[in-house]
Amino acid sequence: MTPFDADIATPPRTLALADPFGRTIDYLRVSVTDRCDLRCVYCMSEKMRFLPKPEVLTIEELDRLCSAFIGLGTKKLRLTGGEPLVRRGFMALVERLSRHLRSGALRELTLTTNGTQLAQHAAELARLGVKRINVSLDSLNPAVFARLTRGGDLNRVLAGLDAASAAGLKVKLNTVALARENRAEIPALLQFAHRRGFDLTLIETMPMGEIDEDRTEQFVSLAEIKAELASIWTLNPAAHATGGPARYFRVEETGGLLGLITPLSEHFCETCNRVRVTCTGTLHACLGHDDATDLRAPLREHPSADAPLIAAIRRGIALKPERHDFRIGMGEAPAVARHMSTTGG
Ligand code: SAM
Ligand code: SF4
Repeated sequence: MTPFDADIATPPRTLALADPFGRTIDYLRVSVTDRCDLRCVYCMSEKMRFLPKPEVLTIEELDRLCSAFIGLGTKKLRLTGGEPLVRRGFMALVERLSRHLRSGALRELTLTTNGTQLAQHAAELARLGVKRINVSLDSLNPAVFARLTRGGDLNRVLAGLDAASAAGLKVKLNTVALARENRAEIPALLQFAHRRGFDLTLIETMPMGEIDEDRTEQFVSLAEIKAELASIWTLNPAAHATGGPARYFRVEETGGLLGLITPLSEHFCETCNRVRVTCTGTLHACLGHDDATDLRAPLREHPSADAPLIAAIRRGIALKPERHDFRIGMGEAPAVARHMSTTGG
């Protein structure tokens, strides 16, 4: 353990975080990189410009930042990106953060990944105390997968899923529902997931960042998809809660869970318990607003004192709006300029 570790190993307990509407904030999502080995059509444009390295928080800074949140009552921490597993030093970060699981300060450490590098890392993630992961998968057809991800290899993700199962990780598949590309495949994705003991969550496309396509054409309401699935299976509302935004249904015939994340057709803001931090240390209290609080300056200007960082976190949480307001319409600009890969999904 370095002297730096000693300083942050046991974060001081202070008043838990609550926003101006009385919602307790105990779920943090941190994007550890804006880079990715895929270029999903709804997420990125083909030629993305990535951030220069000095702007991105180091592994030590990410650890310190996450630990400060844990000291403020964060119970669930999700590491995301970009693609978290392409970030150099990512496993070292998980290893450092796992001390908060062992101390009991953190209830859950998890990640969202595209799965391409999971085969190499699943066993180690499980060893470090990660219990559940979200893996994004939008098609089981290799050609559609390659088109949607602009060149991705489905077999690598399937190998990653096998490794996750072998390591005992609980998997939830995330699928963005797309009108043209995968709508017809969604029943097959549900069957695939539930046969392997995975839950499946469907997501509506959100208007985040300029991409090369028109999102209006891609958008399909999950209310429609749900009706289609309900004509095949019996969907019983489930009380299951993960602290995330999905509404869950138990599929009677398969026994598996189906989650629906409907930021556009039905918002879920009243129970929102989470905030996000980008890989440059910008706190966004709401996915659908341009509110932003810089946490990198207090991190870097006060390398051995957390009080300015904690004050900045509290200022950022005080900006959390009551609800987001996403709309997808012809010719409308994205609701927020930043991409999902910057904020972290
Ligand atoms: N690279 C990892 C992955 O794909 O799982 C983690 C980051 S990715 C930004 C997190 C999630 O956001 C993925 O499930 C992805 O499908 C979803 N996502 C990305 N852009 C989106 C958008 N515009 N609308 C809805 N979901 C989006
Ligand atoms: Fe990469 Fe994930 Fe965005 Fe796809 S959704 S481009 S895998 S960050």
